[in-house]
Amino acid sequence: MNPPTIPFPHRQIHLDFHTPAGVTVGDQFDATTFFDTLETAKVNSIALFAKCHHGYSYFDTKVGTRHPGLGFDLLDQMVAESAKRKMPVLAYFSLNVDEVFAEAHPEHVAQFRDGKPVDSQILQDGSELYWRWLCPNRGSWLETFFFPHVEECLRLHLLDGIFIDMAGYLPGSCFCDDCQRLMNEQGIDPNDDTAHQQFNSATHDRFARELRRRMDAIRPGLRLEIGCYNAFGEAAKAKGVISDFYAETLAFQTGWLAFPLLGRYLSNTGVPVMGMTGRFLKNWGDFGTVVSPAQMKYQVATHLMVGAASCIGDHMHCNGALDKAVYQTIGEAFSFLEPRQQWCVGMKRLREAAILIPDGVENAAMVAAKGNGVSLFDTLYGAVKFFTEEHIQWDVVDASMDWSDLRTLVVANPPATEAALGKLEAFVADGGSLSVDPNAILTTASFAARWHALLGVKSAKHGEHPGTYYSVSGQLAKGLPDMAHYVHAPGLELKPATGSKVLARLKTPPFVRSREHFYGHFHGPDILDAGAAMISSQEGRVLTFAQPLLAAYLHTGYHAHRTLLRNVFQKLLPQRLLRTNAPGQLEITLGKKDGKMVLQMLPFIADRRDRNSFESLNEPILIGGFTITLTSGPQVRRIYDPLSGREVNFRKTTRGMSFRPPPVREHQLLIAEMEPAG
Ligand SMILES: [Zn+2]
Repeated sequence: MNPPTIPFPHRQIHLDFHTPAGVTVGDQFDATTFFDTLETAKVNSIALFAKCHHGYSYFDTKVGTRHPGLGFDLLDQMVAESAKRKMPVLAYFSLNVDEVFAEAHPEHVAQFRDGKPVDSQILQDGSELYWRWLCPNRGSWLETFFFPHVEECLRLHLLDGIFIDMAGYLPGSCFCDDCQRLMNEQGIDPNDDTAHQQFNSATHDRFARELRRRMDAIRPGLRLEIGCYNAFGEAAKAKGVISDFYAETLAFQTGWLAFPLLGRYLSNTGVPVMGMTGRFLKNWGDFGTVVSPAQMKYQVATHLMVGAASCIGDHMHCNGALDKAVYQTIGEAFSFLEPRQQWCVGMKRLREAAILIPDGVENAAMVAAKGNGVSLFDTLYGAVKFFTEEHIQWDVVDASMDWSDLRTLVVANPPATEAALGKLEAFVADGGSLSVDPNAILTTASFAARWHALLGVKSAKHGEHPGTYYSVSGQLAKGLPDMAHYVHAPGLELKPATGSKVLARLKTPPFVRSREHFYGHFHGPDILDAGAAMISSQEGRVLTFAQPLLAAYLHTGYHAHRTLLRNVFQKLLPQRLLRTNAPGQLEITLGKKDGKMVLQMLPFIADRRDRNSFESLNEPILIGGFTITLTSGPQVRRIYDPLSGREVNFRKTTRGMSFRPPPVREHQLLIAEMEPAG
């Protein structure tokens, strides 16, 4: 495998072009205008279409089917002009979604367990995608059609790389005869969801490695972007195959917390990460929408916050012309981004806490944690929201990564292996602390007793109530209204082991609400004591929760949960990299690059007044009058805004270096130069 030889670009456009038959294509394409528009918008890399989901190609192909409404070699004209401009081009190929091919060859379409073809995908907002999905294992179409098509394109055009989309299966597939036969040969039980998911992942890993081999045979070291490694437990396999991750998150589809989580996780593999957002309001292909310049700047600034490069998704009109108005907004965002990227892209994040994500679990586990009402992602996003609002410097790690510099971990799933448990035990023995979510407690693993011993838990079982109360006192109650607080999510009944401390009591209504037996409008008041809500063990370094507080905070935004969590993390993480009285709407991250400290601030203030509306960020609002104290590390010599050159005054206090940043309206960068060590 060859490393990529092309410099990793920072401001890419992903130019979707899924175009069905029945329309005229490219009649208004003009290569000069097209690239002038891109260059004016500060674009320095682009993915252009070789083959779309409809199955049409946009170049003169002998292997595939040129779009019937296209009268010339569009891709060739695009690539020829890009070469003059020295703008790198990736050629886009849709792998498993190809309507032309699926229509001609239904014998290669993926199948559900009942033998029905995979031909529908429901998105989070309820909209449906109608295309069919092919199965790479079903027949030999990769060898006879797909690989030759990519190879033909690479030989015809001077490309910088290949972008592969739709390298995956929809949930519940594939159970075609070939997949069943291969699983049988490999001793995989097709009824084991986890094993089936791993088999599916292996199918696309094999595909990607073969594609890399064939690309290298034509021109070594080309860029390759493919999404099949963007999953927990899969990312590390991408090394040596892909050139960079594209971490695609459109906020309407995934929410605003997805990129910070995914981007951090992927970048810990050591492979460069490019964040991919979109110009659209909702989904890809949401023609007639462009987000506000303020929002677009926010979207790409979230990439800076984790040290990633940026890509913005667009969808070209079938006439082949770029929309000038769209590129005005993209240009505003990329012009804003350009001077900031040199400071942020590739920086090393400074971190003190991390979310430990499950390693080697199936994707399905991400959608719904089994047997409990809260999904794994609710817990993970709850942690992202809490850490962001509390200005805790956080990261995302899995069991295989290095945690040695971390001081506290959020554990959302039980350890998958004895080795992972051993690593957690060693982490705690070395002085690290854990906060353990209820979803992480129950396990059928052979080492369950050893896990529970670390947690100080004697026994645990699912509680009957759809929600329960916690009651706390002392330091943990600081700032909390003095009452029992309700958690609107089911939890566990926990019994502490001998030697553990119960730090919060669990209270319940007198009975579970039902038609036969109900109490007023909602749940009843806190009447029964149901044992432990929070257990402390290992001299206070491990806190285990009966209630899914992080998920409940995500769902309800209840201030009491945040206050309790703040008090909990005061115990688990008493020393911080920074302290501030800035509001939680201001995200602050610390990084290091070229020996300098990189401090980034990014306000998130959404326009939302109706419970059914979506958070758009149309008007930036000034946040000011706060202080930041950098509490550790070497002595600061100088703090300045590298874009304006303006110096920021600071003073030494007993807690560290304190300063008042200028008021922040949008992404703000400050650089701290340190005194030389020693
Ligand atoms: Zn199959």
